Amino acid sequence: MIDQLLHGNVAFVAGEFKPNEEYYQAIATQQRPKVLWIGCSDSRVSEHQMTGSKPGTMFVHRNVANIVAFNDVNISAILEYGVVHLEIEDIIVCGHTRCGGIAAIEDGVHENYIADWLCIATGAKEAADRIAKERGLSREEKLAVLTEENVKLQIKHLKNLALIKNMHAKGSRPRIHGWLYRVETGTIDVLVDGRSGKASPGLTALA
Ligand SMILES: [Zn+2]
Repeated sequence: MIDQLLHGNVAFVAGEFKPNEEYYQAIATQQRPKVLWIGCSDSRVSEHQMTGSKPGTMFVHRNVANIVAFNDVNISAILEYGVVHLEIEDIIVCGHTRCGGIAAIEDGVHENYIADWLCIATGAKEAADRIAKERGLSREEKLAVLTEENVKLQIKHLKNLALIKNMHAKGSRPRIHGWLYRVETGTIDVLVDGRSGKASPGLTALA
C-alpha cells in the first residue's frame, strides 16, 4: 500500500503538478483558501476530490462524525486561524451517509474516548429519537435523520462559539453551510444554505 501511495505521488507530480506549475508555485508562496471545511475523518469523504477542487482551496478540519466541540482547542485554533488570519468567508460542516460515527451514536459504544467524543452529539440523537418515534422510521431512515440532525447541531455549536458569535454580531461572515455527502452516489445535498441562512427541507422533512 505504501508503495502505491508513493507511485501515486510520482503520477500526481507528472500529471497534475507540472502541467499546473504556475498555480502550485503561487500557492507554495502563500495559501489563500476562502473556505473552511469541517468534515468526518472517514476515508471515503475527500473534500477536495468530491468538489473538484485543487489543493489550496479549503482549510480543513476532520474528526469522527464532523463534530464541533466547545472544549476542543484543536478546532478552536483552526477556526481562529481560518476566520481571523485567512479571512475565511464560508464554513462548510459536511456529514455523510453510512457514517460509522453516526451508527455508533445510534447504537452506543463503550470504548472510552470514542464514547466521550460522540457524547457531544447527544442532542442530535435526542432529536432523531423523537422524530423516529413520531414517524415510525426504519433504522436506515433514522440514521439518515440522525446524520442531518448532527450537521444542524454542529452548526449550532459553531454559531455559539464566542469567536463566531462576535463576528456574526458585526456582519454575515463567515457564512455557515450544512452539507451531506452521499458515499453511494458521490453527490452533495445542501442541508443548510449559508447564502440565504435558510435550512433546506432536507431529509428530516422527507422522512
Ligand atoms: Zn463519518
